[in-house]
Amino acid sequence: CGITAYCGKGEALPFLMQGLSKLEYRGYDSAGVTTLENNQLITVKCKGRLENLENKLKNQHLSGHVGIGHTRWATHGVPSNLNSHPHTNQDETIALVHNGIIENYRELKDELLKKGYQFQSDTDSEVVVQLLDSLYDGNLLEATQKVLAQIKGSYALCILSTLEPEHIIVAKKDSPLIIGKTKDGYVGASDIPALLEYTKEVYFLEDYEMAVLSTDHISFYDQHGHPIEKQTTTIPYDL
Ligand code: GLU
Repeated sequence: CGITAYCGKGEALPFLMQGLSKLEYRGYDSAGVTTLENNQLITVKCKGRLENLENKLKNQHLSGHVGIGHTRWATHGVPSNLNSHPHTNQDETIALVHNGIIENYRELKDELLKKGYQFQSDTDSEVVVQLLDSLYDGNLLEATQKVLAQIKGSYALCILSTLEPEHIIVAKKDSPLIIGKTKDGYVGASDIPALLEYTKEVYFLEDYEMAVLSTDHISFYDQHGHPIEKQTTTIPYDL
């Protein structure tokens, strides 16, 4: 699939949508976006190609400055509106997009069901957001780290929450995720073409690393949650 993320001074939606259009080759079973507006998560998503999402977005103006987007290549759960990403927890305080496959999702889901969690989709990805909800204890980065220790498989994840607004947490293992530094914030995407209109200054995230994107700051962490330093690379060509 294709993932996009925006955290900056401008509106998130234009970046998210142009990025998804550059990534549509990676999946077109469904498309969706979530932005943060007045400390609420607004999610618009639907089955089918990006064009369907564009049409749906004509009826509403998403003006948030933080947001995440996804085009899906379904692996678990049929292509449908409910299985589209982003997925949220039940009280809609956390939203997430996922590229990859959570191999142990069944056992994690069974445990969460026993705890009373209800699921809206058949995807492996929704398990990650419900697990985050169950492990959140006042610190989203720590909760993410605990989730990563429990999930098996491949993932690029972008996480947005009203509990800690104004930033996005990203993580990856065996699925691509690239971060760009723009003149007014930070952006993320599955592949370089999605970033190029906005920046050529990028950070490459390695497996098991996490990053926290804010408008004017970025921090990187290893899998133990220890801060690490990273330098930008300049993409030296026009694609
Ligand atoms: N496994 C997830 C799903 O089926 C993500 C697939 C993707 O990378 O698009 O929804």
